[in-house]
Amino acid sequence: MLFLVGLDDHDSHFGGCTTYVAYRLIRELANTRLRVIPLPALVRLNPYIPFKTRGNAAVRLVIESENTTEKDIIEHIREIVDKYREKRGKADPGIAVTRVDNIGKLKILYKIYRKAVTDIITIDQVDKLCEKFNIYVRGGKGRVGAVSCLGFLPDIDSTFELLAYGDPSTKKRINIDVLSFSVLDQLFKLYTFANVDVENEKILIFPSGPDPVIYGVRGDSPLHVIFLSSLVQHVAKIEIEGWLLFRTNQATGIHVEYSENKIRTFNPYRTMIRVSKISRTEDRHLLCFTENGPSVFSYRHIGSPCSFLERSLGDIVEVWGGLRIKDGRYFIYVEGCRKLSRRLVQLNNPRCPRCGSALKSLGKGRGFFCKKCNIKIPTLHKIISEVDSSNILFSLPYLSEFRHLMKPTDRVGIERMANMFEDLEIPMWII
Ligand SMILES: [Zn+2]
Repeated sequence: MLFLVGLDDHDSHFGGCTTYVAYRLIRELANTRLRVIPLPALVRLNPYIPFKTRGNAAVRLVIESENTTEKDIIEHIREIVDKYREKRGKADPGIAVTRVDNIGKLKILYKIYRKAVTDIITIDQVDKLCEKFNIYVRGGKGRVGAVSCLGFLPDIDSTFELLAYGDPSTKKRINIDVLSFSVLDQLFKLYTFANVDVENEKILIFPSGPDPVIYGVRGDSPLHVIFLSSLVQHVAKIEIEGWLLFRTNQATGIHVEYSENKIRTFNPYRTMIRVSKISRTEDRHLLCFTENGPSVFSYRHIGSPCSFLERSLGDIVEVWGGLRIKDGRYFIYVEGCRKLSRRLVQLNNPRCPRCGSALKSLGKGRGFFCKKCNIKIPTLHKIISEVDSSNILFSLPYLSEFRHLMKPTDRVGIERMANMFEDLEIPMWII
């Protein structure tokens, strides 16, 4: 008999990490009659929910066991998990267990998973669902993520991440130079991704922070991810406790994939806009106003989207990101944008026929005014000129500014590669 197990909120702002708890749990379950079927899933949920830690991650396991009940499993897991979870801070861990016995239930769980990635799910909704479908849950707010991750379907698109754990204090001693690491990155390209931010010369596999994750290697081939991790281990000579390979929805862009996302604060959103007005805030962040739908906000430091949008005045552009209300108006905080149509000409004010300086418009049909000569010229019209626009059609932030679910350009066209490894026995997925 198969069971789905969901874990959430075992981390906190003080450190600790839901994935580390899952790692310890899987190791301890190896000595029991509950068999964990590889690979565990690392499931990222809506990244814009403000009251979650930045990653908003849950872990889903599939467990095989005969003659066991959900109640036994949940009590057993709780006992183990309690030893390792972070007890300081506001973490409110949740555990969910349900039997894989009913297609109707699995369909509903998939719907809930999609909603948890693109929207907000309340505890009430989760509790009602659990009652109706016999899902056993324990814990506080973490119930939401624990139940939401149960319906993750990797076949639609998924990637792999290997997380290596150890003593957080060893992070300071890691010393790999960007250049030699970039060579490794090049060798493993297409099979692994987002290892280095080349533009800013930053290695991205070593997270800072107080949690026990020493490094994380992401990719579309589990074998290459493990191979690169072994090399990193060898080159950097890092002491680790062990590692665990996850299948994950990271880097799939799934949160902005669905067209039915609602316009609501904290929702990911993707739409087409016509850029009708551009301005910069005092801090040089970009505001981009549109005639239809939400406006757009782009942080100055994220990279090229700011200048890309600035050059797109009058164009039709597809933008995606997270929704927030600012001064009573919806803004999409940009994760990426793409040009859909390009204007070829634009209308400009004419120059003064007397002195040659730029004229000021007096309003539609009322002509122009020259400040220098102090005259009104009612007979002139706007002039048509060519637009100096670039050929760049796609714009994404620097890799170091990526959130977990955002899809890097390296993955475009190789989606679902993970499915090829479905029947493969993967060596060293846990050590
Ligand atoms: Zn003049």
